[in-house]
Amino acid sequence: MSEQFDVIVIGAGPAGYVAAIRAAQLGLKTACVDAFAGKDGKQALGGTCLNVGCIPSKALLDSSRQFHNLTHNFGVHGITADNAKIDVATFVGRKDKIVKQFTGGVAQLFKANKITPYFGTGKLLGPNKEPGNNVEITGADGAKQTISATNVILASGSVPIELPFAQFDGKAIVDNAGALDFTEVPKRLGVIGAGVIGLELGSVWKRLGADVTIIEALPEFLAVADADVAKVAAREFAKQGLTIKLNAKLNKAEVKKDGVHLTYTDKDGEQNLVVDKLLVAVGRRAYTAGLLAEDTGVKLDERGRIVVDEHNHTGVDGVWAIGDAVRGPMLAHKGSEEGVAVAEWIAGKAGHVNYDTIPWVIYTEPEIAWAGKTEKELKDAGIPYKVGSFPFAAIGRAVAMNEAIGQVKMIAHAETDRILGVHMVGPGVSELIAECVVAMEFKGSSEDLARIVHAHPTLSEAVHEAALSVDKRAIHKGN
Ligand code: FAD
Ligand code: NAD
Repeated sequence: MSEQFDVIVIGAGPAGYVAAIRAAQLGLKTACVDAFAGKDGKQALGGTCLNVGCIPSKALLDSSRQFHNLTHNFGVHGITADNAKIDVATFVGRKDKIVKQFTGGVAQLFKANKITPYFGTGKLLGPNKEPGNNVEITGADGAKQTISATNVILASGSVPIELPFAQFDGKAIVDNAGALDFTEVPKRLGVIGAGVIGLELGSVWKRLGADVTIIEALPEFLAVADADVAKVAAREFAKQGLTIKLNAKLNKAEVKKDGVHLTYTDKDGEQNLVVDKLLVAVGRRAYTAGLLAEDTGVKLDERGRIVVDEHNHTGVDGVWAIGDAVRGPMLAHKGSEEGVAVAEWIAGKAGHVNYDTIPWVIYTEPEIAWAGKTEKELKDAGIPYKVGSFPFAAIGRAVAMNEAIGQVKMIAHAETDRILGVHMVGPGVSELIAECVVAMEFKGSSEDLARIVHAHPTLSEAVHEAALSVDKRAIHKGN
């Protein structure tokens, strides 16, 4: 008889491993199946996020930021260093150590919570005579075994979208994983897609000296963000020397001896560009290859995502799905919260995910962060609103840090004053957004934030002043 569990999670990314831990905390006998192998060929738990996503990209962003500050920004503080150099092997090696620390950390957490890890590809099998669900696991050597559980949580994540005319070869044309592992700074880096990955990884290599050109299909820059935030970001990226071509359609990418030859069309007609490396970052798609036997009854939508209801249930008895593999933003914290909620629903408790207050952060310089609705979304929906904003240029701490760029913009309902959206670009906004998310989660008003004491001098005063500005009573600027 196959080994029996209460819960089997397929996928150990931030959605799956968090679901497994929460299920185990709730006293459920839990297994987690994951196929991801690290650079040493051994199982590396943590999925895209820990291995080739959030954590390694932030490690490289931080190292490259230190280098850029040393070579460009420290002079104003009276600090100079001659002949500053970057050793790419150490730079990438530090990132690898951090990845290992965190993937190993998940293995430790599994041990501490008595979760059984399986290394291999998990496939949900169709209905059988016994109650419960069966999962077939295929190891790297092809060996198969079957385990069973009352509940199966599908958390198979996502993979990069590949363009047919610019296919990944892992050397010259790369995805996010490749761009985290360059062995030298490319002299000329081409990026297709001015989205989150293109901007973050484009910034990393630009700061180390690469000549970076980003080709974006849409006519508008960073269309997902609030227009005021996108405007400031576009201006700052241009100052940093990131070349962003909007309304540009890639036609061809050919790998030749002297580099990757790109042909794209923009408003001025057909253009040519030769780069040493090409990062294709045009979005990600849900990954379900080999996950489902034909007769499971689990449905996929037109974009290949697993169909779920508002409780992340697939409609098949005991089968749930979470994270990048289902609808909603492809963010680690969104997947993790779904994982917690599903484990709690399985245990008969009240799970909760509020999709209206999920924060977004882009870890560029300046950072970009937001939660809730953009001004355009509110305008389109005909919702009456009022806006307050405050620039970091008038924040003492930001000026003292020499990082007085950007602003906080707060949007509240015109009648109830309830906060509907907060949009930030500037120093430390990845942390500042949390306060606004708390306020929004508690259905707070701009007046609530305006009446809260904020420490002086801190960057958080920009949030306070933006809240005051909604009611035209900011202290340190004209209203
Ligand atoms: P994944 O992390 O993709 O994990 C899925 C796991 O399931 C993988 O290990 C996969 O191997 C395994 N798997 C799939 N199918 C099977 C199967 N059949 N059997 C066994 N195992 C299987 N998000 C943020 O919130 N903040 C960030 O700063 C951020 N930065 C990012 C930077 C980059 C470069 C990238 C690429 C992504 C970034 N993201 C970020 C997005 C984030 O990584 C994803 O939203 C998150 O990893 C999704 O989690 P998940 O658990 O749903 O899937
Ligand atoms: P994205 O959706 O953020 O950006 C893709 C960009 O490529 C878009 O601007 C799109 O218009 C453009 N594009 C699409 N097809 C194109 C084409 N043929 N030619 C030129 N441009 C084209 O996707 P991404 O940057 O690949 O990242 C994938 C996802 O990973 C993100 O949406 C996000 O959910 C997640 N992520 C999050 C973070 C973070 O939270 N800081 C960081 C990295 C990735």
